[in-house]
Amino acid sequence: MEKGIYVTRSSMPPYEEYIEAIKPLWESHWLTNMGEYHQELERRLEEYLGVPRISLTVNGHMALELAIQAFSFPEGSEIITTPYTFVSTTHAIVRNRLEPVFCDVKETDGTIDETQIESLITPKTVAIVPVHVYGNLCNVDEIQKIADKYNLKVIYDAAHAFGVKRGDVGIGNYGDASIYSFHATKVFNTIEGGGVVCKDEKMYERMYDLKDFGIRNEELTASVGANGKMSEFSAIMGLCNLNHLNNAFDARRRAYERYCEGIGDVKGIRIPVPEVETTRNYAYFPIFVEDEYGLSRDELHRKLANNMIFARKYFYPLTADQACFKNRYKSARLPVARKMSSQVMVLPLFEGLADEQIDIIISIIKENIT
Ligand SMILES: *Cc1c(COP(=O)(O)O)cnc(C)c1O
Repeated sequence: MEKGIYVTRSSMPPYEEYIEAIKPLWESHWLTNMGEYHQELERRLEEYLGVPRISLTVNGHMALELAIQAFSFPEGSEIITTPYTFVSTTHAIVRNRLEPVFCDVKETDGTIDETQIESLITPKTVAIVPVHVYGNLCNVDEIQKIADKYNLKVIYDAAHAFGVKRGDVGIGNYGDASIYSFHATKVFNTIEGGGVVCKDEKMYERMYDLKDFGIRNEELTASVGANGKMSEFSAIMGLCNLNHLNNAFDARRRAYERYCEGIGDVKGIRIPVPEVETTRNYAYFPIFVEDEYGLSRDELHRKLANNMIFARKYFYPLTADQACFKNRYKSARLPVARKMSSQVMVLPLFEGLADEQIDIIISIIKENIT
């Protein structure tokens, strides 16, 4: 193989479609600031995701940071969260001057272990920030019960869970808010982008303020907001990508199933399964390399890299163990998260990944010899 296979590759609409779609911008000269396409994409996504309201942002991280800010928690309050995630989740908490408290996760699907949340609650706890990791839905029912009992907010990081539904319910409806990422590497992209699902108009208006410097009108700046607005070029990319989403999901599902057929029976290779039944978006293909496999995760990772296949240790290290957070915050013991983190590897999965490429990856994993 001359060229490498990376873990992901951005989905893009046909070139002509995008070029045609951005043409009106040369007429209007309206490039950002909640323009026509920003509004249209919000409508289309509300419909697609089955959520009451979504506020688009410049990226998923800003969506989460501003969604947390929207609740105005007192400085130094504690937020129970998962360390088995992208650093963005923990950053968003800390950048709001709040304290993450790390809770362990479940080995089945990698989501927060809801049975351990209660033991971490203190008088300073104000919220829970779980992650629907790999698109696997958290135990939203139990988490809501705990939140109700202790009067906590729940803000879901749904960056991985675009398009996932439980029955008829879009998963953005759970909790007090959910955030999506529309980054180039995600299932659905607006190049860079994100969104906050808002339960009501009040939250929508709060988000509108916060992503536009807190400016209410020409002479009134009411809160210390950021610049989190999505540009029209990004919104149009989203509108175009939405037209092709079904193809993207089909391609991902077929690739996912081909992997499962190929390596589902390999001893020591574990494929996680969601605990809560939902439709799936096949955002990632994580595997866990267990002792029986013979090679360690790192050895297999190197072996694939030697063949120009670049899998990713997603998530290793845990955010709780990253240099910027290590030993600074309260944490439960994290035996499950640490074990998963030492075994995990995400294999290439994207629209356009060829069957032959998947077969090569399968055969390398099956060889099981260095
Ligand atoms: C991608 C991601 C984010 C951040 O989204 P960006 O759009 O990249 O800013 C946050 N949390 C998780 C779990 C992610 O995977």
